[in-house]
Amino acid sequence: MSASRQVTKAVNDVLDLAPRHGEVSLIKLVAAVSEDRARPIEIAMAELPPGVTGQWRQYGDHDVFLIQRGLPTWDRTLAHELGHLVLGHYGIPVAEAARELAEVADDGLIGYMLNQRTGCMGPSGEDAEQEAEDFAALLLYRLGRLPSDRSSIVQVRLGEAFG
Ligand SMILES: [Zn+2]
Repeated sequence: MSASRQVTKAVNDVLDLAPRHGEVSLIKLVAAVSEDRARPIEIAMAELPPGVTGQWRQYGDHDVFLIQRGLPTWDRTLAHELGHLVLGHYGIPVAEAARELAEVADDGLIGYMLNQRTGCMGPSGEDAEQEAEDFAALLLYRLGRLPSDRSSIVQVRLGEAFG
């Protein structure tokens, strides 16, 4: 795995936001990022067009990660969309005023780029897709190795630094 420095830093920054007590799950990390940005992030399962796994929509005052309903690798897709967000990429802008219209005319959003490899639908380019993939892989890898309390997280990180 050769994630860029920027991706590695983004993963560290997100893990730094992890709750201090209890198990650290991906859902909790998304909530922590949301709190840190003082901007709500909603996660919703949705019937997305065939081949689409996930989509990040930016509304006026909140963000929505849509995940294809029934997707077995939903956590990978969720981590991928979170990666786009924390790496400063752009989601699909949806003006608050046009929200209802957009929900009705969902097919219109297909006009945005669908990445054939990741199934991610959004206006970001191939480089951004790769970064989001690297972020998701590294974040899930690190999450999978995390013990369930934060003091242990610090130990893991120290271990990585000195090991
Ligand atoms: Zn993507």
